[in-house]
Amino acid sequence: MVSKAPSGFEKVKPTLDEFESQLREVHGAKTSKVSAKKNEHLWQVLRIHHERSRYIYHLFYKRRAISKDLYEWLLRQGIADRQLIAKWKKRGYEKLCCLQCIQRSESTHGSTCICRVPRAQLERDDTAFHQCVHCGCHGCASTD
Ligand SMILES: [Zn+2]
Ligand SMILES: [Zn+2]
Repeated sequence: MVSKAPSGFEKVKPTLDEFESQLREVHGAKTSKVSAKKNEHLWQVLRIHHERSRYIYHLFYKRRAISKDLYEWLLRQGIADRQLIAKWKKRGYEKLCCLQCIQRSESTHGSTCICRVPRAQLERDDTAFHQCVHCGCHGCASTD
């Protein structure tokens, strides 16, 4: 931690420490696994980052449990993802898994990732979908 944390930090610290140790575990497991597991490893890291941002987002926007000062500080520290949270505030993006999945140019078919397609539509189109390749998302359409 670079600068001193605003008051209220001690309340969220235990949970953030928990996320930290999960990340350390994933990083530690990396070297012992074969390269075939590379994607899975990346997905785990992305999932933890997602959950941590989600936690901060909920504390500030839903539960109003932390101050604006603390919220901004957590964003500056990179503990929560500012850009991802900005998306969650938009209609239709409330459950977005990661920014990669809406970056059109980078996905395989030049369109939004399949994880963004609502379950109902997948079923209608008879499309089998389990996990997306970008972050291992199981589906993050707002209507699901
Ligand atoms: Zn997704
Ligand atoms: Zn995706």
